[in-house]
Amino acid sequence: MSGSRDIVIAGGGMVGASLALQLGAVLPSATRICLVEGFPLPAPLAQGMPDYHPSFDARSTALSYSSRLIYEQLQIWDALEQWLCPIESIHVSSRGRFGSSLLRAADYGWDALGYVVENAWLGGALLQALYRQGRVEVCSPARVLAAHPHGGGMRLQLEGALEEEIDTGLLLVADGATSGLRRQLGVAVEEKSYDQHALVANVGFARPHRGCAYERFTDQGPLALLPLLPVATAEHRSALVWSLSPGDAEHLCACPREEFLEALQQRFGYRQGRLHQVGERHSYPLSLVESAEQVRQGVVVMGNAAHALHPVAGQGYNLALRDVAQLGAVLAEGLAEGRAPGDVALLQRYLRRQQPDQARTIRLSDYLPALFMHTDPLLGVARDLALSGLDVLPPLKREFVRHAAGLAAMDDSRGAHSGG
Ligand SMILES: Cc1cc2nc3c(=O)[nH]c(=O)nc-3n(C[C@H](O)[C@H](O)[C@H](O)COP(=O)(O)OP(=O)(O)OC[C@H]3O[C@@H](n4cnc5c(N)ncnc54)[C@H](O)[C@@H]3O)c2cc1C
Repeated sequence: MSGSRDIVIAGGGMVGASLALQLGAVLPSATRICLVEGFPLPAPLAQGMPDYHPSFDARSTALSYSSRLIYEQLQIWDALEQWLCPIESIHVSSRGRFGSSLLRAADYGWDALGYVVENAWLGGALLQALYRQGRVEVCSPARVLAAHPHGGGMRLQLEGALEEEIDTGLLLVADGATSGLRRQLGVAVEEKSYDQHALVANVGFARPHRGCAYERFTDQGPLALLPLLPVATAEHRSALVWSLSPGDAEHLCACPREEFLEALQQRFGYRQGRLHQVGERHSYPLSLVESAEQVRQGVVVMGNAAHALHPVAGQGYNLALRDVAQLGAVLAEGLAEGRAPGDVALLQRYLRRQQPDQARTIRLSDYLPALFMHTDPLLGVARDLALSGLDVLPPLKREFVRHAAGLAAMDDSRGAHSGG
Protein backbone atom coordinates (compact mmCIF):
# COMPACT_ATOMS: atom_id res chain seq x y z
CA MET A 1 0.00 0.00 0.00
CA SER A 2 1.24 3.53 -0.64
CA GLY A 3 0.19 6.98 0.54
CA SER A 4 1.29 10.56 0.85
CA ARG A 5 1.94 13.10 3.63
CA ASP A 6 3.11 16.71 3.51
CA ILE A 7 5.79 16.18 6.16
CA VAL A 8 7.30 12.96 7.56
CA ILE A 9 9.53 12.98 10.65
CA ALA A 10 11.81 9.91 10.77
CA GLY A 11 12.74 9.25 14.41
CA GLY A 12 10.65 10.01 17.51
CA GLY A 13 13.43 10.54 20.08
CA MET A 14 13.48 13.77 22.08
CA VAL A 15 14.12 15.83 18.94
CA GLY A 16 11.64 14.06 16.63
CA ALA A 17 8.90 14.28 19.29
CA SER A 18 9.66 18.00 19.85
CA LEU A 19 9.55 18.61 16.09
CA ALA A 20 6.18 16.89 15.83
CA LEU A 21 4.76 19.04 18.64
CA GLN A 22 6.19 22.27 17.27
CA LEU A 23 5.03 21.68 13.68
CA GLY A 24 1.60 20.54 14.91
CA ALA A 25 1.35 23.83 16.83
CA VAL A 26 2.49 26.30 14.15
CA LEU A 27 1.51 24.82 10.78
CA PRO A 28 -2.00 25.05 9.27
CA SER A 29 -4.30 22.15 10.21
CA ALA A 30 -4.48 21.04 6.55
CA THR A 31 -0.74 20.13 6.64
CA ARG A 32 -0.53 16.35 7.10
CA ILE A 33 2.32 15.45 9.43
CA CYS A 34 3.45 11.93 10.28
CA LEU A 35 5.99 10.83 12.93
CA VAL A 36 7.64 7.43 12.37
CA GLU A 37 9.48 5.88 15.34
CA GLY A 38 11.23 2.50 15.38
CA PHE A 39 10.80 1.96 19.12
CA PRO A 40 7.26 1.02 20.34
CA LEU A 41 5.82 4.18 21.90
CA PRO A 42 3.40 3.78 24.82
CA ALA A 43 -0.26 4.35 24.02
CA PRO A 44 -2.05 7.51 25.25
CA LEU A 45 -3.09 7.36 28.92
CA ALA A 46 -6.25 8.90 30.29
CA GLN A 47 -4.26 10.08 33.33
CA GLY A 48 -0.66 10.37 34.36
CA MET A 49 2.50 10.27 32.31
CA PRO A 50 3.45 7.55 29.80
CA ASP A 51 6.78 5.99 30.78
CA TYR A 52 8.70 6.78 27.61
CA HIS A 53 12.46 6.23 27.34
CA PRO A 54 13.49 7.73 24.01
CA SER A 55 16.45 5.74 22.67
CA PHE A 56 16.11 3.39 25.70
CA ASP A 57 17.56 6.20 27.73
CA ALA A 58 18.27 6.54 31.47
CA ARG A 59 19.91 9.98 31.29
CA SER A 60 18.91 13.39 32.54
CA THR A 61 18.94 16.63 30.58
CA ALA A 62 19.77 20.13 31.76
CA LEU A 63 17.28 22.42 30.03
CA SER A 64 18.41 25.99 29.41
CA TYR A 65 16.31 29.13 29.71
CA SER A 66 15.91 29.17 25.90
CA SER A 67 14.25 25.72 26.11
CA ARG A 68 11.92 26.99 28.83
CA LEU A 69 10.78 29.84 26.54
CA ILE A 70 10.08 27.37 23.70
CA TYR A 71 8.14 25.00 26.00
CA GLU A 72 6.14 27.94 27.36
CA GLN A 73 5.12 28.84 23.81
CA LEU A 74 4.13 25.21 23.24
CA GLN A 75 2.16 25.35 26.50
CA ILE A 76 3.84 22.28 27.98
CA TRP A 77 6.00 24.05 30.56
CA ASP A 78 3.33 23.86 33.31
CA ALA A 79 2.91 20.09 32.85
CA LEU A 80 6.68 19.58 32.87
CA GLU A 81 7.46 21.76 35.86
CA GLN A 82 6.65 19.09 38.47
CA TRP A 83 9.52 16.94 37.09
CA LEU A 84 12.12 19.71 37.00
CA CYS A 85 14.82 20.47 39.53
CA PRO A 86 15.86 24.14 39.19
CA ILE A 87 19.61 24.86 39.03
CA GLU A 88 20.04 27.77 41.42
CA SER A 89 23.82 27.95 41.14
CA ILE A 90 26.69 26.38 39.19
CA HIS A 91 30.05 25.79 40.82
CA VAL A 92 32.80 25.55 38.18
CA SER A 93 36.23 24.36 39.31
CA SER A 94 39.41 22.70 38.12
CA ARG A 95 40.74 19.80 40.23
CA GLY A 96 44.06 20.53 41.96
CA ARG A 97 44.18 24.19 40.82
CA PHE A 98 43.12 27.45 42.46
CA GLY A 99 40.57 28.81 39.99
CA SER A 100 36.86 28.37 40.64
CA SER A 101 33.71 30.33 40.01
CA LEU A 102 30.21 30.38 41.43
CA LEU A 103 27.42 31.44 39.10
CA ARG A 104 24.18 32.25 40.93
CA ALA A 105 20.74 32.69 39.36
CA ALA A 106 19.81 35.29 41.99
CA ASP A 107 22.65 37.55 40.79
CA TYR A 108 20.85 37.88 37.44
CA GLY A 109 17.36 38.21 38.90
CA TRP A 110 16.40 34.74 37.54
CA ASP A 111 14.75 31.94 39.47
CA ALA A 112 17.10 29.36 37.90
CA LEU A 113 20.12 29.03 35.59
CA GLY A 114 18.56 25.89 34.08
CA TYR A 115 16.35 22.93 34.96
CA VAL A 116 17.26 19.25 35.24
CA VAL A 117 14.78 16.62 34.11
CA GLU A 118 15.12 12.86 33.78
CA ASN A 119 14.78 11.92 30.10
CA ALA A 120 12.04 9.40 30.85
CA TRP A 121 9.84 12.19 32.26
CA LEU A 122 10.73 14.64 29.51
CA GLY A 123 9.95 12.02 26.85
CA GLY A 124 6.68 11.19 28.64
CA ALA A 125 5.63 14.85 28.80
CA LEU A 126 6.40 15.41 25.10
CA LEU A 127 4.45 12.33 24.08
CA GLN A 128 1.50 13.14 26.29
CA ALA A 129 1.37 16.67 24.83
CA LEU A 130 1.58 15.23 21.31
CA TYR A 131 -1.35 12.88 21.93
CA ARG A 132 -3.33 15.70 23.53
CA GLN A 133 -2.63 18.02 20.60
CA GLY A 134 -3.91 15.31 18.22
CA ARG A 135 -2.43 16.97 15.09
CA VAL A 136 0.29 14.48 14.19
CA GLU A 137 -0.17 10.90 13.05
CA VAL A 138 2.14 8.67 15.13
CA CYS A 139 3.41 5.50 13.42
CA SER A 140 5.17 3.17 15.90
CA PRO A 141 6.88 0.75 15.94
CA ALA A 142 7.79 1.48 12.31
CA ARG A 143 10.94 2.48 10.48
CA VAL A 144 11.83 4.56 7.47
CA LEU A 145 14.17 2.21 5.62
CA ALA A 146 15.15 4.36 2.66
CA ALA A 147 14.38 7.68 0.96
CA HIS A 148 14.81 8.74 -2.67
CA PRO A 149 14.10 12.08 -4.42
CA HIS A 150 10.72 12.01 -6.13
CA GLY A 151 8.84 14.89 -7.81
CA GLY A 152 10.26 17.75 -5.68
CA GLY A 153 9.90 15.72 -2.47
CA MET A 154 10.93 12.25 -1.30
CA ARG A 155 9.59 8.72 -1.74
CA LEU A 156 10.03 6.68 1.46
CA GLN A 157 10.19 2.93 2.00
CA LEU A 158 8.73 1.95 5.37
CA GLU A 159 8.73 -1.15 7.55
CA GLY A 160 6.08 -1.88 10.17
CA ALA A 161 3.63 0.84 9.00
CA LEU A 162 0.31 0.29 7.25
CA GLU A 163 1.76 1.80 4.08
CA GLU A 164 5.00 0.37 2.68
CA GLU A 165 5.66 3.44 0.56
CA ILE A 166 4.91 7.10 1.31
CA ASP A 167 5.52 10.17 -0.85
CA THR A 168 6.25 13.30 1.14
CA GLY A 169 7.01 16.92 0.38
CA LEU A 170 9.50 17.13 3.26
CA LEU A 171 11.44 14.45 5.13
CA LEU A 172 12.85 15.49 8.52
CA VAL A 173 15.69 13.12 9.40
CA ALA A 174 15.82 12.84 13.23
CA ASP A 175 17.13 9.30 13.64
CA GLY A 176 20.07 10.08 15.93
CA ALA A 177 23.86 10.46 15.82
CA THR A 178 24.44 7.22 13.88
CA SER A 179 21.64 8.11 11.43
CA GLY A 180 21.05 5.32 8.92
CA LEU A 181 18.99 7.64 6.69
CA ARG A 182 21.79 10.22 6.54
CA ARG A 183 24.11 7.47 5.33
CA GLN A 184 21.57 6.09 2.88
CA LEU A 185 21.05 9.60 1.43
CA GLY A 186 24.82 9.94 0.95
CA VAL A 187 25.14 12.90 3.33
CA ALA A 188 28.77 13.16 4.46
CA VAL A 189 29.65 13.62 8.14
CA GLU A 190 32.65 15.09 9.89
CA GLU A 191 33.45 13.13 13.00
CA LYS A 192 35.99 13.90 15.68
CA SER A 193 36.36 11.33 18.43
CA TYR A 194 37.19 12.71 21.89
CA ASP A 195 38.67 9.31 22.85
CA GLN A 196 36.45 9.48 25.90
CA HIS A 197 33.27 7.90 27.20
CA ALA A 198 30.65 9.60 29.35
CA LEU A 199 29.79 7.50 32.38
CA VAL A 200 26.26 8.35 33.42
CA ALA A 201 24.56 7.39 36.72
CA ASN A 202 22.33 8.82 39.42
CA VAL A 203 24.16 9.13 42.74
CA GLY A 204 23.06 9.80 46.35
CA PHE A 205 24.89 12.05 48.84
CA ALA A 206 24.62 12.50 52.60
CA ARG A 207 23.97 16.25 52.28
CA PRO A 208 21.49 18.23 50.11
CA HIS A 209 22.64 19.83 46.83
CA ARG A 210 20.61 23.02 47.47
CA GLY A 211 20.04 23.36 43.73
CA CYS A 212 23.76 23.55 42.99
CA ALA A 213 25.21 21.95 39.82
CA TYR A 214 28.92 21.16 39.82
CA GLU A 215 31.12 21.29 36.74
CA ARG A 216 34.53 20.00 37.74
CA PHE A 217 37.37 19.83 35.23
CA THR A 218 39.90 17.12 35.96
CA ASP A 219 43.00 15.97 34.07
CA GLN A 220 40.98 12.94 32.90
CA GLY A 221 38.10 15.03 31.58
CA PRO A 222 35.11 17.01 32.89
CA LEU A 223 32.79 15.71 35.60
CA ALA A 224 29.33 17.21 36.02
CA LEU A 225 26.81 16.65 38.82
CA LEU A 226 23.34 18.00 38.17
CA PRO A 227 20.79 18.38 40.99
CA LEU A 228 17.77 16.04 40.84
CA LEU A 229 14.46 16.05 42.70
CA PRO A 230 14.28 13.63 45.65
CA VAL A 231 12.60 10.21 45.31
CA ALA A 232 11.37 7.85 48.04
CA THR A 233 14.60 5.81 47.96
CA ALA A 234 17.08 8.70 47.76
CA GLU A 235 16.67 12.16 49.22
CA HIS A 236 19.81 13.98 48.02
CA ARG A 237 20.22 12.87 44.42
CA SER A 238 22.35 14.17 41.57
CA ALA A 239 22.84 13.06 37.96
CA LEU A 240 26.48 12.31 37.18
CA VAL A 241 28.07 12.77 33.74
CA TRP A 242 31.73 11.79 34.06
CA SER A 243 34.04 11.88 31.02
CA LEU A 244 36.72 9.21 31.20
CA SER A 245 39.08 7.24 28.99
CA PRO A 246 37.20 4.30 27.39
CA GLY A 247 39.14 1.82 29.60
CA ASP A 248 38.41 3.68 32.85
CA ALA A 249 34.75 4.10 31.89
CA GLU A 250 34.43 0.38 31.18
CA HIS A 251 36.09 -0.50 34.48
CA LEU A 252 34.07 1.96 36.57
CA CYS A 253 30.82 0.82 34.92
CA ALA A 254 31.47 -2.81 35.89
CA CYS A 255 33.39 -2.56 39.21
CA PRO A 256 31.75 -3.17 42.62
CA ARG A 257 29.61 -0.32 43.90
CA GLU A 258 31.96 0.48 46.82
CA GLU A 259 34.95 0.85 44.49
CA PHE A 260 32.96 3.16 42.22
CA LEU A 261 31.78 5.35 45.10
CA GLU A 262 35.33 5.61 46.45
CA ALA A 263 36.75 6.62 43.03
CA LEU A 264 34.06 9.26 42.50
CA GLN A 265 34.41 10.61 46.02
CA GLN A 266 38.14 11.09 45.42
CA ARG A 267 37.50 12.94 42.16
CA PHE A 268 34.65 15.10 43.41
CA GLY A 269 35.56 15.67 47.07
CA TYR A 270 33.18 16.17 50.01
CA ARG A 271 31.21 19.28 49.03
CA GLN A 272 27.97 17.32 49.53
CA GLY A 273 29.31 14.98 52.19
CA ARG A 274 29.73 11.25 51.76
CA LEU A 275 28.53 9.53 48.61
CA HIS A 276 26.53 6.47 49.56
CA GLN A 277 24.32 5.46 46.61
CA VAL A 278 24.70 4.82 42.90
CA GLY A 279 22.01 3.67 40.45
CA GLU A 280 22.51 1.93 37.09
CA ARG A 281 25.73 2.94 35.36
CA HIS A 282 25.84 3.46 31.57
CA SER A 283 28.61 4.63 29.32
CA TYR A 284 28.42 6.48 25.97
CA PRO A 285 31.33 7.03 23.54
CA LEU A 286 31.90 10.76 22.96
CA SER A 287 32.55 12.38 19.63
CA LEU A 288 31.62 15.52 17.76
CA VAL A 289 29.53 14.50 14.76
CA GLU A 290 28.52 17.15 12.26
CA SER A 291 26.50 16.57 9.14
CA ALA A 292 28.25 18.23 6.18
CA GLU A 293 24.84 19.03 4.66
CA GLN A 294 21.71 19.83 6.64
CA VAL A 295 19.26 20.79 3.91
CA ARG A 296 18.44 19.54 0.43
CA GLN A 297 15.35 19.80 -1.71
CA GLY A 298 12.73 17.94 0.37
CA VAL A 299 15.08 17.04 3.27
CA VAL A 300 16.29 18.57 6.56
CA VAL A 301 18.67 16.73 8.91
CA MET A 302 17.87 17.55 12.56
CA GLY A 303 18.97 16.84 16.15
CA ASN A 304 21.86 14.46 16.78
CA ALA A 305 21.78 13.44 13.11
CA ALA A 306 22.77 17.05 12.27
CA HIS A 307 25.11 17.69 15.22
CA ALA A 308 25.99 15.48 18.19
CA LEU A 309 28.06 17.35 20.79
CA HIS A 310 30.24 16.66 23.82
CA PRO A 311 27.83 16.77 26.80
CA VAL A 312 30.14 18.97 28.94
CA ALA A 313 28.11 22.14 28.55
CA GLY A 314 24.71 20.36 28.35
CA GLN A 315 23.90 22.02 25.01
CA GLY A 316 22.98 19.26 22.50
CA TYR A 317 19.24 19.05 23.07
CA ASN A 318 18.89 22.75 23.91
CA LEU A 319 20.47 23.65 20.57
CA ALA A 320 18.35 21.07 18.74
CA LEU A 321 15.22 22.56 20.30
CA ARG A 322 16.17 26.04 19.07
CA ASP A 323 16.66 24.48 15.60
CA VAL A 324 13.17 22.96 15.91
CA ALA A 325 11.59 26.32 16.86
CA GLN A 326 13.39 28.08 14.00
CA LEU A 327 12.39 25.45 11.43
CA GLY A 328 8.76 25.65 12.59
CA ALA A 329 8.78 29.44 12.17
CA VAL A 330 10.36 29.29 8.69
CA LEU A 331 7.99 26.56 7.46
CA ALA A 332 4.97 28.53 8.73
CA GLU A 333 6.24 31.61 6.86
CA GLY A 334 6.90 29.59 3.71
CA LEU A 335 3.46 27.95 3.67
CA ALA A 336 1.86 31.37 4.17
CA GLU A 337 3.86 32.58 1.11
CA GLY A 338 2.43 29.65 -0.89
CA ARG A 339 5.70 27.69 -1.04
CA ALA A 340 6.01 23.90 -0.80
CA PRO A 341 7.45 22.68 2.56
CA GLY A 342 10.38 21.02 0.78
CA ASP A 343 11.34 24.12 -1.26
CA VAL A 344 15.12 24.20 -0.97
CA ALA A 345 15.26 28.03 -0.91
CA LEU A 346 12.94 27.98 2.10
CA LEU A 347 15.01 25.33 3.85
CA GLN A 348 18.16 27.35 3.21
CA ARG A 349 16.46 30.31 4.89
CA TYR A 350 16.11 28.15 8.00
CA LEU A 351 19.78 27.18 7.88
CA ARG A 352 20.94 30.77 7.33
CA ARG A 353 19.06 31.89 10.42
CA GLN A 354 20.15 29.00 12.62
CA GLN A 355 23.78 28.63 11.58
CA PRO A 356 25.30 31.35 13.83
CA ASP A 357 23.71 29.68 16.88
CA GLN A 358 24.85 26.22 15.77
CA ALA A 359 28.41 27.40 15.08
CA ARG A 360 28.76 29.16 18.42
CA THR A 361 27.21 26.36 20.50
CA ILE A 362 29.29 23.67 18.78
CA ARG A 363 32.46 25.75 19.29
CA LEU A 364 31.71 26.21 23.00
CA SER A 365 31.06 22.54 23.69
CA ASP A 366 34.13 21.49 21.67
CA TYR A 367 36.44 24.08 23.22
CA LEU A 368 35.66 23.59 26.93
CA PRO A 369 36.85 19.97 27.37
CA ALA A 370 39.96 20.64 25.27
CA LEU A 371 40.92 23.74 27.27
CA PHE A 372 40.48 22.05 30.61
CA MET A 373 42.23 18.78 29.74
CA HIS A 374 45.33 20.37 28.31
CA THR A 375 48.47 19.69 30.34
CA ASP A 376 50.41 22.73 29.07
CA PRO A 377 51.26 24.77 32.25
CA LEU A 378 50.58 28.09 30.48
CA LEU A 379 47.14 26.91 29.45
CA GLY A 380 46.66 25.75 33.06
CA VAL A 381 47.31 29.28 34.29
CA ALA A 382 45.04 30.69 31.55
CA ARG A 383 42.11 28.49 32.60
CA ASP A 384 42.64 29.31 36.30
CA LEU A 385 42.57 32.99 35.40
CA ALA A 386 39.50 32.39 33.24
CA LEU A 387 37.71 30.73 36.16
CA SER A 388 38.69 33.28 38.80
CA GLY A 389 38.25 36.02 36.18
CA LEU A 390 34.61 34.97 35.84
CA ASP A 391 34.21 35.79 39.51
CA VAL A 392 35.98 39.15 39.51
CA LEU A 393 34.62 40.46 36.21
CA PRO A 394 30.81 40.54 36.42
CA PRO A 395 30.28 41.49 32.71
CA LEU A 396 32.32 38.43 31.62
CA LYS A 397 30.30 36.24 33.96
CA ARG A 398 27.03 37.67 32.66
CA GLU A 399 28.12 36.99 29.07
CA PHE A 400 29.05 33.38 29.94
CA VAL A 401 25.69 32.82 31.65
CA ARG A 402 23.79 34.30 28.67
CA HIS A 403 25.57 31.84 26.37
CA ALA A 404 24.92 28.86 28.65
CA ALA A 405 21.25 29.84 28.92
CA GLY A 406 20.94 30.01 25.13
CA LEU A 407 19.84 33.65 25.29
CA ALA A 408 22.69 35.01 23.15
CA ALA A 409 21.54 32.55 20.47
CA MET A 410 17.97 33.77 20.67
CA ASP A 411 19.14 37.39 20.27
CA ASP A 412 21.15 36.29 17.21
CA SER A 413 18.19 34.61 15.62
CA ARG A 414 16.02 37.70 16.18
CA GLY A 415 18.74 39.75 14.40
CA ALA A 416 18.94 37.28 11.50
CA HIS A 417 15.16 37.18 11.32
CA SER A 418 14.82 40.94 10.95
CA GLY A 419 17.57 40.76 8.31
CA GLY A 420 15.46 38.25 6.24
C1 LIG B 1 25.79 11.67 28.45
C2 LIG B 1 24.97 12.71 27.75
C3 LIG B 1 24.38 13.76 28.47
C4 LIG B 1 23.67 14.76 27.81
N1 LIG B 1 23.15 15.79 28.53
C5 LIG B 1 22.54 16.82 27.90
C6 LIG B 1 22.05 17.96 28.61
O1 LIG B 1 22.19 18.04 29.83
N2 LIG B 1 21.45 18.97 27.90
C7 LIG B 1 21.30 18.91 26.55
O2 LIG B 1 20.76 19.86 25.95
N3 LIG B 1 21.72 17.83 25.84
C8 LIG B 1 22.33 16.79 26.48
N4 LIG B 1 22.76 15.70 25.76
C9 LIG B 1 22.44 15.62 24.32
C10 LIG B 1 21.06 15.01 24.07
O3 LIG B 1 20.93 13.80 24.76
C11 LIG B 1 20.84 14.79 22.56
O4 LIG B 1 20.94 16.06 21.94
C12 LIG B 1 19.47 14.21 22.25
O5 LIG B 1 19.30 12.97 22.89
C13 LIG B 1 19.34 14.00 20.73
O6 LIG B 1 18.12 13.39 20.47
P1 LIG B 1 17.71 12.88 18.99
O7 LIG B 1 16.22 12.74 19.05
O8 LIG B 1 18.32 13.73 17.95
O9 LIG B 1 18.42 11.46 18.83
P2 LIG B 1 18.09 10.07 19.54
O10 LIG B 1 17.78 10.28 20.98
O11 LIG B 1 19.20 9.15 19.21
O12 LIG B 1 16.74 9.56 18.86
C14 LIG B 1 16.70 8.98 17.57
C15 LIG B 1 15.39 8.20 17.45
O13 LIG B 1 15.23 7.75 16.12
C16 LIG B 1 14.70 6.43 16.13
N5 LIG B 1 15.10 5.83 14.84
C17 LIG B 1 16.35 5.49 14.42
N6 LIG B 1 16.33 5.07 13.15
C18 LIG B 1 15.04 5.15 12.71
C19 LIG B 1 14.39 4.88 11.47
N7 LIG B 1 15.07 4.45 10.40
N8 LIG B 1 13.06 5.08 11.37
C20 LIG B 1 12.34 5.52 12.48
N9 LIG B 1 12.92 5.79 13.67
C21 LIG B 1 14.25 5.63 13.79
C22 LIG B 1 15.33 5.79 17.37
O14 LIG B 1 14.56 4.70 17.83
C23 LIG B 1 15.34 6.96 18.34
O15 LIG B 1 14.17 7.02 19.14
C24 LIG B 1 23.50 14.69 26.40
C25 LIG B 1 24.05 13.63 25.67
C26 LIG B 1 24.81 12.66 26.33
C27 LIG B 1 25.45 11.55 25.51
